Amino acid sequence: MDIKGVLFDKDGTLLEFHQMWISVSQSVVGVLLARYSTPAMASDESLLAAIGVYGDRVDNRGLLASNPVEDIALTWFEMLMPGCSKTDFIDDVKALFNQTVKENPGLIKSLPGIEAVLITLKQCGLKLGIATADSKAATLYSLEQAGLLDYFDFIGYSDGDIEPKPAPDLMEAFCGTCGLIARQVVMFGDTVSDMKFGQNAGAISIGVLTGTATHAELAPHARMVISSVADFTPDLLDRMRRSPTTTQ
Ligand SMILES: [Mg+2]
Repeated sequence: MDIKGVLFDKDGTLLEFHQMWISVSQSVVGVLLARYSTPAMASDESLLAAIGVYGDRVDNRGLLASNPVEDIALTWFEMLMPGCSKTDFIDDVKALFNQTVKENPGLIKSLPGIEAVLITLKQCGLKLGIATADSKAATLYSLEQAGLLDYFDFIGYSDGDIEPKPAPDLMEAFCGTCGLIARQVVMFGDTVSDMKFGQNAGAISIGVLTGTATHAELAPHARMVISSVADFTPDLLDRMRRSPTTTQ
């Protein structure tokens, strides 16, 4: 198996997910309920549940874990029925998420051992990329805050100008930028959507348990599931490179 590149999901895969995104979502919902007081008034619990947040638990197939913020905004638009256009509401929700992330830099943390692995993989000559459902502004800000921004040859976001995961478009963009073909790429992610994205693109999907999904949820869609990207050692990379190519 000829492995030349690694593409990573961001939240729950490289960066700590729960503390940051649950807190940010709760703040955004609070502002929206105050700002858009309508006859269709939803509760904070119902707005959070609609994006897969139940108290301190996040559904890995829910909108917060797997989808761009536009999808979250559209769902909330239907629930709140605000007296503004859909476009204005989406822009407002996107701005609120970006602003809330920037107001809470202390919540942005890389997961343990991630930076060391990225350094090692670069030393092994691999091209490294990000494929996230997050927006450009929030992605660049959070990677910089976590001290990881400079390790990547490609950063792919979901700002509405490219089909988001699990469509293969972000993989094609990574491969185009780095001169790779998809079967030379390992895709790391913490959700079923990430695993299907890797499969749809023809890459090698590896699930990690640092985010929202369980081993049982990821395993049917992944070549393998490991505890963390931090466990992707040069030894494991060598073993994968020596193994024959198989389909998922
Ligand atoms: Mg994730």
